[in-house]
Amino acid sequence: MKNEKTGKAGKAKEKDIGLGLTQPKEACEDPKCAWHGKLAVRGRVFRGNVKSAKAHNTVIVEWGYHRLIRKYQRYERRKSYVTVHNPPCMKANEGDSVVIAECRPLSKTKNFVIVNVERGRK
Ligand SMILES: [Zn+2]
Repeated sequence: MKNEKTGKAGKAKEKDIGLGLTQPKEACEDPKCAWHGKLAVRGRVFRGNVKSAKAHNTVIVEWGYHRLIRKYQRYERRKSYVTVHNPPCMKANEGDSVVIAECRPLSKTKNFVIVNVERGRK
């Protein structure tokens, strides 16, 4: 019997970005990737839907929330849009539900990065 534990190539080190998510199977070379680059995520975390995935490595995520109207003691639905970095390993498309996390400013408008994609929503 041969021991196959000799080579260490191909075994990517698991990274814990601190959100209780599992690392994607695919790897990428993007330095602005929360999993495979040197990007640290901290701050706010949202779940939202991808509205547009037309720009290069960027998606627009719609993020719905509820706001209390004091006078009527009821909530109104509001939404806002954030531009989010879409690393090559995430491959988020329009209609996907994604988890986004705040990070350092990646460009003039991007302060968030996708950390998880939940597919299958139509
Ligand atoms: Zn990646």
